[in-house]
Amino acid sequence: RLYNEVIELKGNIRVFCRCRPLNHDEIAKGSTSVVEFDSAQESELKIIGSDSSKKQFKFDHIFRPEDNQEAVFAQTSPLVVSVLDGFNVCIFAYGQTGTGKTFTMEGTAENRGVNYRTLEELFRVSNERSDIMRYQLCVSMLEVYNEKIKDLLAEDVDQPAKKLEVKQSAEGTQEVPGLSEVPVSKTDEVWELLKRGSRARSVGSTNANELSSRSHCLLRITVRGENVVNGQRTRSHLWLVDLAGSERVGKIEVEGERLKESQFINKSLSALGDVISALASKTAHIPYRNSKLTHILQSSLGGDCKTLMFVQISPSSSDLGETICSLNFASRVR
Ligand code: ADP
Ligand code: MG
Repeated sequence: RLYNEVIELKGNIRVFCRCRPLNHDEIAKGSTSVVEFDSAQESELKIIGSDSSKKQFKFDHIFRPEDNQEAVFAQTSPLVVSVLDGFNVCIFAYGQTGTGKTFTMEGTAENRGVNYRTLEELFRVSNERSDIMRYQLCVSMLEVYNEKIKDLLAEDVDQPAKKLEVKQSAEGTQEVPGLSEVPVSKTDEVWELLKRGSRARSVGSTNANELSSRSHCLLRITVRGENVVNGQRTRSHLWLVDLAGSERVGKIEVEGERLKESQFINKSLSALGDVISALASKTAHIPYRNSKLTHILQSSLGGDCKTLMFVQISPSSSDLGETICSLNFASRVR
């Protein structure tokens, strides 16, 4: 059987799919790849089912296991640069834990991800435009865990701290009053700053990786521009979001604290799916208020804002069920 799931390129919403390589553990356990790439159709892939059925998916772009961070950023950079033209932009990494969300967004020191490359590119382009535009860039980082907001760049992250909330400004935009903003002007200082924020995610938890898979991490780049010719000022936001793992937790684990967490994650990821699909279908009512995540991002989702979703998948036969779920989520977001 051949299914056709067409994810169209529509308006300001793009969906990219990135498939990581099979890892050593999977190979050792005899898992095989269930993802088939089409050499003629670069934007399509097929998933080979356990009953040898094939399901087909289409994206705006597909990154294969051998595609590196440069290749990913080459497709992403036009979108991130549009924040310098005054557009609000949101980029999400969605998928099961272990599929490469953090690898794509943060990356490693040797293989830096979208977050670092974005700042590098924004510095480069803003310098190029310095005879017309003066730009100031600021970075904020926050975590959403169990519907609570934590400032990851606060001076003292250990402090039980001020509670952060989303508030509407006099101009009608959604803001997070009190959230730290760090001005940045050169590449050197940025990697350390991003590391500091991501280290703060693990404070108070016994296992950093565990917690990071159950919270959303949002990096916000605020761009303030001033046209040196006519004095016109702009402010825009670029959000780079490493989402909580989309996997359904096993029945045995579902109790106590873990149950609460997984309910919050399910609720916020489906709220995000609802918002993006409402935007794509041009529905009048957009349900931003159904989760903290979509409420925070309200002013940067919809209107003439630009949205990009990376759907991260594993090629392994052992992850087939979750991979199909992620690809189905992506088709809903068209
Ligand atoms: P997630 O954030 O979705 O839980 P990670 O980013 O932590 O997943 O990735 C899990 C592991 O797989 C990490 O060790 C990461 O370095 C590796 N990995 C993920 N994507 C790739 C890729 N495209 N190429 C090489 N290694 C990858
Ligand atoms: Mg991660």
